[in-house]
Amino acid sequence: MFDFLIIGQGIAGTMLAYQAQQKGFSVCAFDTHNPNSASNVASGVVNPITGRKMLKTWKADTIIPYAIDTYKAIEKELDIKFIHEIPIAKIITSEEDVNLWNSKLEDSRYQNNISPIQSLNNPHINEAFGVGFIQPTFWMNMKIMVQKIRTNLLKNNLLFEENFNYSLIEFDDTIKYKNIEAKYIIFAEGFNIQNNPFFNFIPFKPAKGEQFKIYSKELKLDYIINKNIFIIPLGNDTYHVGSTYIWDDETEMVTEEGRKEVLTKLDKIVKCKYEVIDEKAGIRPTIKDRRPVLGAHPEHKNMYVYNGMGTKGISLAPYFSNELILHITENKEIDKEIGIQRFI
Ligand SMILES: Cc1cc2nc3c(=O)[nH]c(=O)nc-3n(C[C@H](O)[C@H](O)[C@H](O)COP(=O)(O)OP(=O)(O)OC[C@H]3O[C@@H](n4cnc5c(N)ncnc54)[C@H](O)[C@@H]3O)c2cc1C
Repeated sequence: MFDFLIIGQGIAGTMLAYQAQQKGFSVCAFDTHNPNSASNVASGVVNPITGRKMLKTWKADTIIPYAIDTYKAIEKELDIKFIHEIPIAKIITSEEDVNLWNSKLEDSRYQNNISPIQSLNNPHINEAFGVGFIQPTFWMNMKIMVQKIRTNLLKNNLLFEENFNYSLIEFDDTIKYKNIEAKYIIFAEGFNIQNNPFFNFIPFKPAKGEQFKIYSKELKLDYIINKNIFIIPLGNDTYHVGSTYIWDDETEMVTEEGRKEVLTKLDKIVKCKYEVIDEKAGIRPTIKDRRPVLGAHPEHKNMYVYNGMGTKGISLAPYFSNELILHITENKEIDKEIGIQRFI
């Protein structure tokens, strides 16, 4: 018998599986291996200050250091490299933004994260008001991490690459599914949770994101640029550029409107030539109140949900998967803000 049966192996399910195994629990996972899952398409940015008002993201000082420590431990243990520490140059666009940035510089909560406005001295970037650097920030190649843990699970016959059929669950003191028995089942299905009959009462508002890969010989960035979109250097003169936020389309395909929106924003930032060499779309599992959701099903014993990673799954997943495991195995209370109780 397994301790945990985990449905979904995006960033959320991968973190659950990894952390459960680290704590000595046995796991078995199901995943349909969708190349367009949010985790496979994610830009990979971890950034403590976001938005037009340049605010600290929710719980940034707790969850980001926790995420970085967890990912560094994974890099070491699995002998892979997917974390790249790289500053973000936020382009300042007006006198009002200059004042806002300077006021943050005097605010003790931001002092460790931002530096005074300066020029990039890059002839290919439009930045009339200069840029402010944000640190510590990261670009993570999550595909490498998710794929490595997938390979390890597959090697040990602990991952089934198939769609989980909800109607075949047998409820008893344990969870039975086909010939598998587990103490607990956790659904970490990303936006597909909307089709899960046990948890489709959670008010989801998925946000499609479209992202492009460009090649530019001239651009030569060794920092991420941010102004409405991110331009992320990937090496070999290639960059991720994106992304869009579309709230009424759940197809995992790039649209003409999305392409136009991102490339128009890109053209306002860069002055040099570039070539679009790839494009992708995925759906972010976003909940209406923009918080993760974790906790037990109101009726079915031993059944849990882990979802709502939204736009920041890379920062959120390590911390909250640990919280969920501790809740299940040690009865640790779940913060009301993220608990499933808020929807029951
Ligand atoms: C364009 C884009 C850019 C992004 N950029 C960033 C970023 O820079 N930084 C950041 O932190 N976040 C970013 N995100 C958000 C981030 O990708 C998500 O928060 C995160 O990947 C969600 O992970 P998940 O595991 O919950 O869901 P998913 O990645 O969707 O994974 C769910 C998995 O479950 C599988 N599955 C679902 N149902 C079943 C079933 N019934 N049976 C078997 N398997 C099933 C799916 O195939 C999939 O593999 C971005 C997202 C997009 C789309």
